[in-house]
Amino acid sequence: MRYGFGIDLGGTTVKLAYFDEQGNLLYKWEIPTNTADSGSHILPDIAAAVNGYLQENQIEKSSIIGIGIGVPGPVSSKGVVNKCVNLGWGVFNIAEELSGLTDLPVKAGNDANVAALGEYWKGGGAGCENMIMATLGTGVGGGIVVDGRVLHGAHGSGGEIGHLVLNRDETERCGCGKRGCAEQYCSATGVSTLAKRLLAASDTSSSLRSVEKIMAKDVFDAAAAGDEIGKAALEQYFAYLGEFLANLSCVIDPEVIVLGGGVCKAGQVLLDGIEPYFHKYVFHAASAVRFTIAQLGNDAGAYGAFKLALDAFA
Ligand code: ZN
Repeated sequence: MRYGFGIDLGGTTVKLAYFDEQGNLLYKWEIPTNTADSGSHILPDIAAAVNGYLQENQIEKSSIIGIGIGVPGPVSSKGVVNKCVNLGWGVFNIAEELSGLTDLPVKAGNDANVAALGEYWKGGGAGCENMIMATLGTGVGGGIVVDGRVLHGAHGSGGEIGHLVLNRDETERCGCGKRGCAEQYCSATGVSTLAKRLLAASDTSSSLRSVEKIMAKDVFDAAAAGDEIGKAALEQYFAYLGEFLANLSCVIDPEVIVLGGGVCKAGQVLLDGIEPYFHKYVFHAASAVRFTIAQLGNDAGAYGAFKLALDAFA
């Protein structure tokens, strides 16, 4: 049996996991992400964690297949990162550098794509060949699997579904600088934006008027309690999300759509809300899609990162 590491590098913590070659997660731990000095400590810290784990457990490097790592930014197929703003990084080859520090082969990928690969391999997409994963958090991230392969694209930004334009008439800007991106409506932030706009546009009484800082959960809770503004905001949200996923399905024709991120805590209410709108907008031949909630939670990135290394080096 051989083994390897899957690493999910985030802006505040690095999640490390040790797997056997069948994809069983044997051990996992976290270290802080030290972004001081333009992020120059991050890779030495990761290398020390990996090397230390192998030494403590008296594991020979010859039994290690390699290291896979998911990075919060665009990464080329050769392992060149192209600016990770959260980490203070510029442009350099992370695979070569981490490989030099650990004496192990390294494969790197974009974190959202890597998390999608994890869900495809061991989570909500297991057994499928074509999958869309949409992560509905503060923003909207995603990853796309076509014919069993994650779409990385020419510049490492394949699967950046959050910036697909859904509304040409939007006046506020998305974080990317454009207007009308899916992320502005389909994220958790989008749920509260839609509710705030409805509150501002009417004087209908609503329990949300007394909430100081409206979060997505407040809107779902209000709707569940029968609040008219909450219900209307969710209908708008489901319509945007249904249209968004229908448009993507016309390109990908997935077997399964996996939804991740904070909004998924709503569970079945979310799935039931999207489906009628999805079927209203989707091309008929791409309509036989199963919706599911992501299953690996915070470990998806580590699973996918190890799968990257497994595919590259095993
Ligand atoms: Zn955008």
